[in-house]
Amino acid sequence: MRSYEKSRGKLTEARQVLAGGVASTLRGSMKPTPLYAESASGVIVKDMDGNQYIDYLLAYGPLILGHAHAGFNEKVSRAMAKGITYGLQHDGEIELARRLTELLPCADKVALSGSGTEAVMLALRLSRAFTGKRKIVRFHGHYHGWSDSIFTSFPSPDMMQTATSAEVDNVPPGTKGQSELSLRDVILLPWNDPEKLESTLRAHAGDIAAVISEPVMCNSGCIMPHPGYLEKMRELTRELNIVFILDEVITGFRLSPGGAHDRFGIMPDLVTVGKALGGGIALSAVGGRKDILGLIDSEQVSHLGTLNGNGVAMAAGMAVLDHLTENGGAVFGKMEHTAIRLANGIRDLFGKHGISGVVNQIGPVFHMMFIREAAVTHFDTFQKRDAAKYAKFAELMLDEGVLVRPNGLWYISAVHEPEHIEATLTAIDLVFFRLKEA
Ligand code: PMP
Repeated sequence: MRSYEKSRGKLTEARQVLAGGVASTLRGSMKPTPLYAESASGVIVKDMDGNQYIDYLLAYGPLILGHAHAGFNEKVSRAMAKGITYGLQHDGEIELARRLTELLPCADKVALSGSGTEAVMLALRLSRAFTGKRKIVRFHGHYHGWSDSIFTSFPSPDMMQTATSAEVDNVPPGTKGQSELSLRDVILLPWNDPEKLESTLRAHAGDIAAVISEPVMCNSGCIMPHPGYLEKMRELTRELNIVFILDEVITGFRLSPGGAHDRFGIMPDLVTVGKALGGGIALSAVGGRKDILGLIDSEQVSHLGTLNGNGVAMAAGMAVLDHLTENGGAVFGKMEHTAIRLANGIRDLFGKHGISGVVNQIGPVFHMMFIREAAVTHFDTFQKRDAAKYAKFAELMLDEGVLVRPNGLWYISAVHEPEHIEATLTAIDLVFFRLKEA
C-alpha cells in the first residue's frame, strides 16, 4: 500500500486556514484523502508523498494538452513578460475572439470571461434581456456552475417519478445559503424526454427566456442525446421565441474543434465554453448570434470582470487552439482513438471479472459506472449506479498509480499515449481483483 501521510498532514494544516481545507468543495471527496500535488508533467502527476500517477482527472477537464506542455508554457510566459493584464484593450483579445468565431459555428461574436460559471451567468442574462422573459428551463443531471440562479441539487429517482407541478414550482437548491428566490424562475425537467420538453415549453412559452442544456450529459453518465432530441429542442425554441443555449464547457474544443454543436450539426443561439479553452488558465467565453451579443454592444446588458481579456488568458486560449487545430485537427482523432481503446479495454475487463458495468464514451471523455443495467441512457438509470463501489475503485486505483475522479468521469488528453493506456488497463485488472476481495 502507498503512503499518503504527507497529504493527510497537509490537509490538517490547510483546514486551519483554508475554508473546507480544499479550494473547491468537490475536491474534498477524494479517498483515502485529498492529494497534495508536488509537480506534474505530461500525463504524470507526483504527490508530496512521492507517489506518481497517470492522470485522468486533468484538473477536472482543462488540461487537454496535459501538464506543463512546453509550447503552451512558452506562449503563456511570453505574454506574461509583456505585462499580465492592462485593463486596456489589446490585440490578443481581437485575435482570440476572431479565432473563436471561426471555430464555433454558432458564434458571430463572443464575450470573454474567466470561468464556466460566469459564462453561463452571462448567457442567461442575455437570454432574459433578449426575450423580455424570465424563466429558464434546465435538466436533471446537468451542471451549469454554482451561481445562485442555476445551481440545483437533484431529487432521487423516486421523487422524479412522482414529481409533477413540483418540478415547476419547487426546484431544490444546490447549497445552503442560496436565496429561496434564486431558483424561482428555473424549471427543472428530465432530459432525453421530448414529450415532456414540448408540453412544458408550449405551456410556459410566454415566460421562458431560455433552455440551457449540455449537448451530451457529461456531468451525469456521459449520456448521449437521443436521436432527434437536440433537433427537437432547436425547433421548439425557435418556434416559441426561446433562446437555446448549449453549455459546452466540457464538450467545447474536446468533441471537435467546433465543439459538440459542430460535431452534431446543431445550431444553438448561444454557446458557453471554458475548461479546455484555457488549458488550465482561467478563461471562458459565450459565443452566439450577433443580435443577442449585440445587447452588450448597445450597453443594454452589462458584461463585467476585472480580469476579462487579460493577456495571459488570451495567449493560453490561442496556444490551446493553435495546438488542437494544427495538422487539420488530427489530435482529435488521436484522442478519440485513445479513449475508445481504453473504454473497450475496460468493457473487456468487466467481462473477464464478471462485473456489471457500463462505459459511455464520446470523443476523449467517458463515464465508467458499476451498474446492473445493460445501458445508461437516462439520468434516472444513472442514479442506480453503485457510486460507493466506484469511489472504492477510484481509491484502489490511486494505489496502483492511476488518478481518476471519484465520480466516474475520465478525461483523455492530447498526450495520453498507448503505453499509458496499457498500464492503466493493467492497473484496472489488478483493482478488479482487489475489489472482489474487499
Ligand atoms: N458548465 C458545465 C457543463 C460544467 O461542466 C462546468 C464545470 N464542471 C461549468 C459549467 C462550470 O464551470 P467552472 O467550474 O469553470 O465555473
